[in-house]
Amino acid sequence: MDSAEYERRIAARFATFDQDGNGYISREDFSTAAAALLAEFEVPARSEQGQALYVGAEAFWQGMAGIADRDGDQRITRDEFVGGAVKRLRDNPAGFAEIARPFLHAALSLADGDGDGVAQGAEVERALRALGVEREIASLAAQALGPVTEDQVVSAFASYFTVPE
Ligand code: CA
Ligand code: CA
Repeated sequence: MDSAEYERRIAARFATFDQDGNGYISREDFSTAAAALLAEFEVPARSEQGQALYVGAEAFWQGMAGIADRDGDQRITRDEFVGGAVKRLRDNPAGFAEIARPFLHAALSLADGDGDGVAQGAEVERALRALGVEREIASLAAQALGPVTEDQVVSAFASYFTVPE
C-alpha cells in the first residue's frame, strides 16, 4: 500500500469513529452511533436492548480513550488517533476486539430481527450502513449471505480498524 492509500484509509477510519463529524472522537460519538442504530432498527432507547447498546457504547469509548486519549482531555484528536490508536490497534487487534465486543454484541442483537441468535449478512450490512461504514466494507460483510456470528463480526471489525502500513 502506498502512503496516499494508507492516509486515505486512516482518514476513513477516523471519520467512522467521528460520528458527529466535529473533528475529534469523544463519548458523544459513541452515543450518536448507538442512537443511529436504534433508529435504524426502530428499537426504543429505554428498552433492554437499547440500554445494553448504550452500556456497550460507553465501554467502547472508555477503552478507546484508554488507548488513545494521551492528554486526558476526553477527546481523541486525529493526531492521537493516528499516533496512538492506529498503532496500538495494529499491535493488539485482540485487545481492540475485546473493547468493541459488548457494543457489537448489543448491535448484533438489534440486527437479529427474528431473535434466533444469528444476524443475516444483509442485517449486518444495514447496521454498518447506519454507522456510515464505507460502502465497500458494508457490502463485503453482506456477502456473507448466511448467518453471521459474533466472532466473525468482532474479527472483521478489528481487521477493518487495524490498518496495515
Ligand atoms: Ca466527534
Ligand atoms: Ca486528547
